[in-house]
Amino acid sequence: MTAMLTIENLSAWYGAARILFDLSFEVGRGEVVALMGRNGAGKTTTMKAIMGLVDRQGAVHFNGDDISRKRPFEIARRGLGFTPEDRRIFADLTVMENLDIGRQAPRAFPDGTPAPVWTPERLFTLFPNLGEMPNRPGGRMSGGEQQMLTVARTLMGNPLLVLLDEPSEGVAPLIVEQMANTIVELKKEGLSILLSEQNIHFAQLVSDRVYVLEKGQIHWQGSMEALAADQDVQKAYLTV
Ligand code: ATP
Repeated sequence: MTAMLTIENLSAWYGAARILFDLSFEVGRGEVVALMGRNGAGKTTTMKAIMGLVDRQGAVHFNGDDISRKRPFEIARRGLGFTPEDRRIFADLTVMENLDIGRQAPRAFPDGTPAPVWTPERLFTLFPNLGEMPNRPGGRMSGGEQQMLTVARTLMGNPLLVLLDEPSEGVAPLIVEQMANTIVELKKEGLSILLSEQNIHFAQLVSDRVYVLEKGQIHWQGSMEALAADQDVQKAYLTV
């Protein structure tokens, strides 16, 4: 499988505090990979380090290019989408206006295959709730709707790979299910996804492979099926 994202010896710091310790992992083209671990394990920091949003060291290759010294906007422009956990939608802007802000030009994979191109209309078939409220201000939506809007806005950038930080956190069960369906659809479209998740039930619905983090280090890696069958690893590192 062609690697879309390759991380080698990634470390990260908040000021003097070292948070990540030499992480190495990869996400193949068309793969859904889950980064799992409890609160504070370092999942969010890993995503921020990939995006260049925290002090980091190590090698990060995306789509064949070294992005380890690029700035966040340059990384995003290469087709690496990031959906942060804290949502960051514009509360005063409508659903449509929020989507417009995410718009970028269409892209292709290195072999010339076009990457999926997203329009609001297409996204509304993935997220019917958003289609029912195109003119609603972001600030007047539920947490789950805001979460969907954040994902939809990221997709408006026509990314090749998406980092999804805890998409199931704090949202209603119905929306969790929609979120899982969306991830499965995105995979079918050929996108690669790195997902951060604490909960094995959600991860199981969508993931091919898993890396388990604790205290900023990878403690286990393997297939989703292998993790689902391994009660010891689940008890040691996950919220069950
Ligand atoms: P969560 O599910 O809570 O987001 P996580 O696995 O994503 O957990 P991180 O948010 O990456 O974990 O946090 C990893 C460690 O970094 C934790 O010990 C946390 O306290 C610390 N940390 C996070 N943000 C900061 C910050 N801005 N300044 C200092 N330390 C931080």
